[in-house]
Amino acid sequence: MTQTVERTLEEPRWVLCPGCATPVYGRRWQRNLHVCPECGRYTPLSARRRLALLVDDGHYEPLDLDARSEDPLGFVDTVPYPARLAEARARTGLHEAVLCARGRVGGAPAVLAVMDFRFLGGSLGSAVGELITLAAEVALAERTPLVIVSASGGARMQEGVLSLMQMAKTAAALGQLDEAGVLTVSLVTDPTYGGVAASFATLCDVILAEPGARLGFAGRRVIEQTIREKLPPEFQTAEFLRERGVVDRIVPRARQRTEIGRLLRAAADAGTPEPAPAPDAAATVRDPHRLPEADAWEQVRRARDLSRPTTLDYLATAFTDFLELHGDRISGDCPSVVGGLARLAGRPVVVIGQQKGHTAAELARRNFGMPMPSGYRKAARLMRLAEKLRLPVVTLVDTPGAFPGADAEERGQAVAIAENLRLMSSLTVAVVTVVIGEGGSGGALGLAVANRVLAFGSAVYSVISAEGCAAILWKDPAAAPRAAAALRVTARDLLRLGVVDGVLVEPDGGTGADPSAAADALRRAVAEALRELDGLTPAQLRADRRGRFRQYGSALTVESELRSMTGPRR
Ligand SMILES: [Zn+2]
Repeated sequence: MTQTVERTLEEPRWVLCPGCATPVYGRRWQRNLHVCPECGRYTPLSARRRLALLVDDGHYEPLDLDARSEDPLGFVDTVPYPARLAEARARTGLHEAVLCARGRVGGAPAVLAVMDFRFLGGSLGSAVGELITLAAEVALAERTPLVIVSASGGARMQEGVLSLMQMAKTAAALGQLDEAGVLTVSLVTDPTYGGVAASFATLCDVILAEPGARLGFAGRRVIEQTIREKLPPEFQTAEFLRERGVVDRIVPRARQRTEIGRLLRAAADAGTPEPAPAPDAAATVRDPHRLPEADAWEQVRRARDLSRPTTLDYLATAFTDFLELHGDRISGDCPSVVGGLARLAGRPVVVIGQQKGHTAAELARRNFGMPMPSGYRKAARLMRLAEKLRLPVVTLVDTPGAFPGADAEERGQAVAIAENLRLMSSLTVAVVTVVIGEGGSGGALGLAVANRVLAFGSAVYSVISAEGCAAILWKDPAAAPRAAAALRVTARDLLRLGVVDGVLVEPDGGTGADPSAAADALRRAVAEALRELDGLTPAQLRADRRGRFRQYGSALTVESELRSMTGPRR
């Protein structure tokens, strides 16, 4: 059975905005998707209206799921619980506070579970928990992504501790979807609190939120009474939570179907790369003798040139369909690391890169490309998503190093980098890294444990900055050029050492002189590397990567490379 939303029949002629008290003509209110055209206030949508808004052409098929609300405690407050349920049913036309359906979103199939705040405040009763769980089980059986739209005041007190148990039940259902590699998307609407916030609303792979939507475990009033302080107005809003790494994206109502559709399509296309014809010529140089010798210090200066394309530049040119995901879900959203879903030569990938900038203002905003622990943890979160969805990981390295600050240390910078090294070595999807500029020390390696590590011709990669090395070993920062040469940081040396597998030839004058040629080189090189890895099984991909890094320092490889470097050069 297919349902289409009833259009304007029950629309009042005028609506009074609850935010600014402006009267808005009913048709205009509806056209504006129940967002006040005067003050921008988002007002709640019924579950039916929300479903119709999210699915293509407003068509959805309600799931026939069996979940009855009981009165397990025989609960009576001012009225018996069954009377409250009956009243909510009569008023909303819903059986419970969630409506589950199948539909297509942006062309991709989805199972949707949409909460309705009008039904007992969207409280998480046993039937709500059961319906969410059953919807997740349908998604699991059909391997179809699950989209959950939440709106809830929290647990349903009338069902006592059995309401609490729904948090664990739904969390387990989402865990099974993680194990099966089925994408889950949460859309947080205002308000989402308590047991719903602390279970399925925040356990999804991607957390979207409506502008201004509030999400939290404890409510503002409870917190203010406990700490005896007044909280700022933006506390617990989607905007507040995005800055703190909890929410990926804030999506206006008019764009929700498009954005969710893009997420679903990326997951649907995972693991099915379009067969691309092999190019006429290799995209990278693999023989160091084919690269010109270059002065190391000059290369360091070129690698830091502010005109070079940054990660975001490549995301706009070499990649398509970039959808940035924000936050580490723990402490923040580091601006020095950007990442998300994108396509490269048509195939979906997870892409993560360090971001500098071209101007002083951009550099300051991006902390000069020096990530905080939250940057490495955001990267880790995105790599786990790639592993779950079987998407290749592409990382772009461009950093002077991890941020050397007190707050970074307090938040465990060393641990964040170490955990990334271990995580990357255990991924069973393909990982390709391109050093696009500066590869600074552990801060670079924290994104660079890849099956294939490539570098642009003027990129450098080093254990320490030339200045730092000069200050420590020469006791003279002015010895930086000598240190750069001694450290062998140039692409040619890195290729000889086997630290990079291929070098991307730069346009005349460097990547900054011809960004579109640089983007083309990067796209071709990454596509070629991914094509080479396509034949490997998940276990082989992991073994290949571990083997690649296992060889460094083993007598037969590196020492012979070093000897060849000191021998005659052709
Ligand atoms: Zn208003």
